[in-house]
Amino acid sequence: MTALEENLERLEDAIAAACRKAACARSEIELMAVSKTYPAAIIAEAASLGLTLFGENRVQEFANKAVDAAELRSTCGNDDLRVHLIGHLQSNKAARAVELFDAIDSVDSVRLAERLNEGAAKLGKRLPVLIEVKLSPEETKAGLEPESTEATQLLERLPDLAHLDPQGLMTIAPWGVAEDVTRSCFRSLRVWRDRWAVTRPRLQLDVLSMGMSGDFPLAIEEGATRIRVGTALFGKRQPWTGAE
Ligand SMILES: *Cc1c(COP(=O)(O)O)cnc(C)c1O
Repeated sequence: MTALEENLERLEDAIAAACRKAACARSEIELMAVSKTYPAAIIAEAASLGLTLFGENRVQEFANKAVDAAELRSTCGNDDLRVHLIGHLQSNKAARAVELFDAIDSVDSVRLAERLNEGAAKLGKRLPVLIEVKLSPEETKAGLEPESTEATQLLERLPDLAHLDPQGLMTIAPWGVAEDVTRSCFRSLRVWRDRWAVTRPRLQLDVLSMGMSGDFPLAIEEGATRIRVGTALFGKRQPWTGAE
C-alpha cells in the first residue's frame, strides 16, 4: 500500500465514523482533496484512487501544474475530475482563474463576482461559485462577514450575474481554538445558509464547504456537505515559495 492509499483509508474510516455520529450517509459528503503545494503528479495519483474533486489555493501555482483543469482531466484520463480555487482571489486575476478552474469557492466581493461573471461570459460558460463567509474575528481570515453591507450587496447582485452559478457557502474555522468554538463556527455557517434560503429565495445555496484535516468530523456533525482535506491525505506541506 502506498502512503496515500493508507491515508485515504484512514480518512475514509474517520469520515464514516463522523457520518454515523451525524446520522448522514457517506454519499452526502463530498471529499475535496486539497492539492496545493503538491505537484500535478499527486493529483494523478489521487485520481487513480478514485478521488475526483481537488482544491488549489493559488492561480499561478495551479497554472504551473497544468494548462487548465481540462488538460488535467485528459492527462489523468478522468472526465469527472474537477479543480476548484479555494484560496483568496484578487479581482485582477479573475479572468485567468475562470480559464484555469472549474469553480471558484472563495468569492468574497461584488467586484470579484462581477469580474468572474465577465470572464465566464467571454468563455461562454456558467461558473459554479461559493460565497466565502468569515465567522471568526481573526483579522487574517478571508471572507465576508455575514452581516456586512458587502455581503448584502453580493447576495443581491448574484442572481443577476447570469454566468455565475452560486451553489453554496464556504468557511474556514479559526486555528487552535477550543472544539466548541470550531463547532459554533460551523453551526453558524449552516444557520446563515438556512436564513438566506428564506430571505434570498432566488439563490440555491445547498453546498456547505467546511472542515479541514483537523476539524472535518465536527464539520460533518454540523451539516457540511463538502470537506476540504490536504494534510491528512498528502502529508505535511512545505511552505509555498513561488511568486504570486
Ligand atoms: C489548505 C486548505 C485546506 C486544507 O487544509 P488541511 O489542514 O491541510 O487539510 C482547506 N481549505 C482551505 C481554504 C485551504 O487553504
